[in-house]
Amino acid sequence: MPLIQTTAGPVEAAELGRTLVHEHLNTAAEGVRFQWPHLVDHDEETARAVAQVRSVQAHGVETICDPGVLDLGRDVQLHLRVQEQTGMRFVLATGVYGQHYTFLPHYFQTRPPEALVDCFRHDLEVGLQGSGVKAHFLKCAADTPGFTEDVEKVHRAVAQASLATGAPIMAHSNPKERTGLRSVEILLEEGVAPGKVQVAHTGDTADWDHVHELLQTGVSVGIDRYGLDDFYGPGQAVRNDMVKRAIDAGFADRLMLGQDHCASIDWFPREVVAQLAPKWSFHLVFDEVVPELLELGVTQDQVDAMLGANVHAWLAA
Ligand SMILES: [Zn+2]
Repeated sequence: MPLIQTTAGPVEAAELGRTLVHEHLNTAAEGVRFQWPHLVDHDEETARAVAQVRSVQAHGVETICDPGVLDLGRDVQLHLRVQEQTGMRFVLATGVYGQHYTFLPHYFQTRPPEALVDCFRHDLEVGLQGSGVKAHFLKCAADTPGFTEDVEKVHRAVAQASLATGAPIMAHSNPKERTGLRSVEILLEEGVAPGKVQVAHTGDTADWDHVHELLQTGVSVGIDRYGLDDFYGPGQAVRNDMVKRAIDAGFADRLMLGQDHCASIDWFPREVVAQLAPKWSFHLVFDEVVPELLELGVTQDQVDAMLGANVHAWLAA
């Protein structure tokens, strides 16, 4: 198996231990942060992240994948500070979230796709933000606005960077709009193998036919937004049923669990997040979801795989 690049250096996939596939130490409006740095309290952000990380170390988590990229305020120094204080290692990403899921910065709009590919390769092969820590996976995103010219450009650039480096890909999706299918179609058109692709946020729907169609393409899926039902639906019980249904249909090795939690996020006033997502955390999966899945007849081995081997297989694909 190939080595996985982490904030603690390269690690054998089999040595990553219990792994959360999709959580964020911080999500921020990059432009606001850059222009008004007085709004940012780095010590507080670090403390909030440390608290979340310690809460899952109590559940045996040894590795967290953080898919922060351009437009999400990715900050590798935050990861390094939190690693130093907790010993947690992080697997980091490169790619583009897309402003309003719609457009690229002018810098990339006026340049060929190779400009994106070169930046992605820099993060994967040289390191992130001058730190020497290498990204391990690529990220692209499609949502309600669909496949604008820029969104498609990002997808094709991500695919080309994956082909050049071997890096796996996470595709942010909106399953209510069925964007995952088109994302996968573009990535496969470019020559990416389906095993390298994980479609995130696939649990945000009650539409089994869509999830089944996606799984039949050969990709993995993230059921990764537990705790966010007032933002995205469809309810914790529906997410659990989707997991069980996918397992019963033979896809137990292509599911991953998470919360898409952001230890800090400036996209909403803090009281709004507290009101709409009171249980949202790095540890909701351990507090509630795992016991509920076991109750539904999911086995402990299957749970362990969704929080370990399945993630490692995608990272190592
Ligand atoms: Zn996320």
